[in-house]
Formats: sequence, C-alpha cells, structure tokens
Amino acid sequence: MKCKRCKAKAVVSLPSHNTAFCKDCYPLFFTRQVETAIRRQKMFTHEERILVALSGGKDSLALMLELSLQGYDVTGLHIDLAIPRSSEKARAKVEAFCELHGLKLQVLEVANEGLPIPAIKKHINRPVCSVCGKIKRHYFNRIAREGGYDALATGHNLDDEAARLFANTLRWDAGYLSDQGPTLPAEEGFVRKVKPLYRLSEFETANYAFLKGIEIHSDPCPYSGGASFTNHKHLLGELEYKSPGSKFSFYEGFLKKGRPAFAMLNKEEGDEVSPCGECGSPTSLDLCGVCRIRTALKEKMAEAE
Ligand code: SF4
Ligand code: ZN
Repeated sequence: MKCKRCKAKAVVSLPSHNTAFCKDCYPLFFTRQVETAIRRQKMFTHEERILVALSGGKDSLALMLELSLQGYDVTGLHIDLAIPRSSEKARAKVEAFCELHGLKLQVLEVANEGLPIPAIKKHINRPVCSVCGKIKRHYFNRIAREGGYDALATGHNLDDEAARLFANTLRWDAGYLSDQGPTLPAEEGFVRKVKPLYRLSEFETANYAFLKGIEIHSDPCPYSGGASFTNHKHLLGELEYKSPGSKFSFYEGFLKKGRPAFAMLNKEEGDEVSPCGECGSPTSLDLCGVCRIRTALKEKMAEAE
C-alpha cells in the first residue's frame, strides 16, 4: 500500500479514513486531527496557558508533544501516586520526556499531601481506583485553578470517549449524557477541561507515539483490575473491524444530536457549590471529598498504630 500523500511505502493503514500514510506523512495526519479538534470544539487559543495531565502513557505524552509542536503554551502536570514498583517508573519516564523536549513540568506527590495510594488501599474501605481517580481529578483541577491556567488537557482518545459514551448509553444516564464531551467549559471553581485527542483512536495515537520515538510507561498499575471499559472497548472494536468508521460516527453523532438533546432534558439546577473549608476546592459540603478522605485516612492510620 502507498502513502496517500507522497506515494512512498505506507506504514500505517487507516481503514476508518480509507487511507494510508508513510512514516513521514503520518504525523501530519495526526496534527490535522488535533487541529480540527481544537478548532471545532473551541478548546483553547495560542494566547492561553494549558496544563496537560501527564501519566507517562502514550496518550498523554503524545498530546503534550503535539501541542508543544503546534506552539501552544503547555505545562505538564504529573501526579506521583507513591505506588510501589509503578509510580517511580512512570515519573522517571515523564521527567525524561519533558527534559528531552525542553517542556515545563510540575510534579505533585500525593504522599506529601497525606494521601499515599498504598495507605488508602489498606485503610479505606472503598475501591482503590475510584478514590485514586477522585484524588487525581481533584489535583488536576486544583493546580490548574491555583496556577491560573486557562484549560486542563487530558489524553483521552476516541476509544476512551466512545466506550464511556457506550457505557452511559447502556444505562441511559441522562446526567452524564448531557455532560460528556471533548470540551467542558469552566464553571464554579472548575477549570475548562479539554480532550484534544478525541478524534484519534488508541491505535492512531500509539502509532504517533511510536513514530515520534516517545519512550512511554506501559506497565499496568499493580492495583489495576484491568483497564476501564475493557468490555465496551472490545465490543466497539469488533464493530469497527466490520464497519470501519462506526466508532467515530457514533461519538460524533452524539456530539451533534445526542448531547444537545440530553442537555435540554437535564436542565435542573445541581447542588449549590462553595469552596471547601480546608483547601478551597468546589464542593457541595463543608469539606470536599478529598479533604474528607485525608481526614478519614489519618484517623484509620492512628487507630492502627
Ligand atoms: Fe490509580 Fe487504579 Fe489507575 Fe492504579 S489503576 S493508577 S490505583 S486508578
Ligand atoms: Zn478540600
């Protein structure tokens, strides 16, 4: 197969776009998709400051590199979760990547915040991934807000977004269906959240990371019970194989028709939000969820001594 652009030997075939590219032209395809996402979904401008959540995986590092190459003012944020045999390696990959490309990086250590994930796993009687996810989202927003960033960007790709949409649709969860999308505007203590890779599949992002020579952290987290939405991704993958492009049209159709309809249905006011008494993050209670987890953990650890 030949590259659609320059007719050299193609190395990546993209059935969903009915096309193929060589190793030099493929990154241009990737760039165009990210540009289109940013423009169509009004994500941010070159005058704004963007905080990019960096886990060390292929999606977040590919996103950071691409946005910096497009001339955006990006700063990486890595959250060191203090998980044995995992966090150290992920952090090393992120630090080496940012140093190699001369990119700004901020690292937050949850252990210094009184929230090491291994202690949470041991003492807090809740699924560790749900608490860990909550803590990460809390600090993404808090650091973006306190640092005066205009937007927080994450590396969610089309597979992540389509699988989440599929799960929300199976439950007809009107709240989530009115609120899922590649750009969530800032509101009441929450910064704008954007997903510039939403038009690109996991395969397409992995190819970009590979062709750009990005060294990624790919070991699974030892606490992971498997990647999120694995079954949904598998089902959508089969559908995509039989009918290329269906994943994208499912998600794009939702953005055009489904989301506005659910937003109309789901207009009722949410709970009143005010700053957390401890950390200032938006919450509907006196203390935010993360400050309550920190207090509970402290008590449990004192009891265990
Ligand atoms: Fe946190 Fe769970 Fe992800 Fe591990 S798998 S980093 S515990 S959310
Ligand atoms: Zn708080």
